[in-house]
Amino acid sequence: MKEDKTDCIFCRIIERKLEASIVYEDETVIAIMDLQPVNPGHVLVIPKEHIPYIDHSHDDAGAYMFKIGIKINEALKKSSIPCEGVNYLLADGEAAGQEVFHAHLHVFPRFKADGFGFRFSEKYYAPTERTELDRLASEIKKQIV
Ligand SMILES: [Zn+2]
Repeated sequence: MKEDKTDCIFCRIIERKLEASIVYEDETVIAIMDLQPVNPGHVLVIPKEHIPYIDHSHDDAGAYMFKIGIKINEALKKSSIPCEGVNYLLADGEAAGQEVFHAHLHVFPRFKADGFGFRFSEKYYAPTERTELDRLASEIKKQIV
């Protein structure tokens, strides 16, 4: 797991040491085209600060990434790129599919029969008992600060 800024691909893009196709940039974030898109028009919104994971200490960065993600969404829908819907995806941690350990928000167009989908485990389809849902809610609630 790489959390070091020096060999971070996104920091190198932000510093203009690697090329990227820039969609949007301000003092807080940069938005670039994903080199390996789920669908054409796949954009990554990346905070300029090297933040490996989104957490409470970076909630302003997280909120701002989504704010710019919504702008990208609106732009995609107005563009000529096929886009019937938009997915937002933020993988936080290796087990969640994070591959670059500099937080980033995926914003990508969806259209019917585009071949992309989520794969759910068989357990997903089994409704959970209320007592278990309440137990899990309580477990999470007591950790919210
Ligand atoms: Zn970085």
